[in-house]
Amino acid sequence: MVVVGAGAAGIFAAWNAARHGARVTLIEKTDRLGTKILISGGGKCNLAHDGPLESVIKAFRPNEAVFIRPACYRLPNTEIVRLFTTRGLQVYTRDDGRVFPVHQTAKDVVQILASYLREAGVKIRFQTPVRRILMDSAGVAGVETDVGTVESQHVVLAVGGSSYPKSGTTGDGWDWARELGHTIVPIRAALAPIELAINGPRWKPGVALRDVVLKARAQGKEVARWRDDLLFTHRGVSGPTVLGVSRAIAERENEGGVTLNADLVPDSAFETVQAEIAAWCATNPRKTSSSLLGEYVPESLVETVLGEIGIDPAQRARDLSKKERNRIAEALKGLSIGAVGEVVLEKGEVVAGGVSLDEVDPHSMRSRVCPGLYLCGEVLDVAGPVGGYNLQAAFATGFVAGESAAQDAS
Ligand SMILES: Cc1cc2nc3c(=O)[nH]c(=O)nc-3n(C[C@H](O)[C@H](O)[C@H](O)COP(=O)(O)OP(=O)(O)OC[C@H]3O[C@@H](n4cnc5c(N)ncnc54)[C@H](O)[C@@H]3O)c2cc1C
Repeated sequence: MVVVGAGAAGIFAAWNAARHGARVTLIEKTDRLGTKILISGGGKCNLAHDGPLESVIKAFRPNEAVFIRPACYRLPNTEIVRLFTTRGLQVYTRDDGRVFPVHQTAKDVVQILASYLREAGVKIRFQTPVRRILMDSAGVAGVETDVGTVESQHVVLAVGGSSYPKSGTTGDGWDWARELGHTIVPIRAALAPIELAINGPRWKPGVALRDVVLKARAQGKEVARWRDDLLFTHRGVSGPTVLGVSRAIAERENEGGVTLNADLVPDSAFETVQAEIAAWCATNPRKTSSSLLGEYVPESLVETVLGEIGIDPAQRARDLSKKERNRIAEALKGLSIGAVGEVVLEKGEVVAGGVSLDEVDPHSMRSRVCPGLYLCGEVLDVAGPVGGYNLQAAFATGFVAGESAAQDAS
């Protein structure tokens, strides 16, 4: 049998199929295994999410959770971690549940996956882009590559999504799946950075706001919020908060007019911040408004924020009127970051959309439309949040797809 794509899902599919006795050829466009695993987590690879499996599954949107649940129970987060630690990988779990290798290198993760494939006898063909999936009257008949065809009645499609196209993922699978009769849910950015429309304030790139709640609003209504860090980039914003709200914004791209603001003191009510500011001004009458703001935001952002709310950075605390103090409190509780220009799909950790989940059996990953075709990983319409969830989904769906294909092939 053939597995197309040697990413997270394809590796697990090929390995598990071979363990179940199949002769497996794993075909990969690039010259290496797991190109996206290598860049995951900033090269550190957040390989799983710790905690009760049900809460890991429920981090996905409800229809996606229903779909991935059977696969996640076949390959739970604890088992994923065990597969790596039994091969010597030391891992640690952050307070937020994210599991990383102790030595913080994704290379170790990929090397272990390579060892599993080697031992299982999987034949790997690198630098072999697949061009299409071949069909005959019975169903799938093989794949056509740049260097000839490979015949097989069982093909696992694991070519991923279309973000980071330089890593090899250029959305090839969706055209093939469509030709074979599948419906493709429109592809949208998810877990992606945002470029701001230029009419917003000029934020200093590289500066981060820690532990804030970023809120996205459209037509006066809040459409998404996420609590974590926010990073200013050359053209906009990134960081976990931004990735967290990006999918909901991308889904509204045609509506336009989405704005972002950040609550910089999410654990304090507005009245508490007001009282804190008044107390600070009373205790430090000769200090300036910029010193006051410096208590809450990084120094390099102080002037920009004060400029936004029209307060002179040199103004003494004792001279700040109640109205001005309130403007500062309002900025801290809802700093206007700017209007969204674009959610940048190509720079996203995943894309939302893909092969419709209604057309794939979640217990086997068999296509319900095309005999002999199995689908797994990001090519499907599944996109979890940041935190090791997406590798969980890719590993687990790949694991199941490989096993089913091997059973059918025997
Ligand atoms: C920057 C970044 C950081 C991330 N960090 C994390 C993280 O820390 N934790 C986490 O859980 N998730 C993370 N993700 C998401 C995670 O990497 C993906 O969800 C996961 O890799 C998807 O697995 P996949 O096997 O479906 O696709 P991929 O891993 O993308 O693999 C698809 C493979 O198919 C190959 N291919 C494509 N087209 C063809 C073709 N025509 N012929 C042959 N081969 C082809 C590609 O070259 C690629 O090797 C991150 C993603 C990015 C981009």
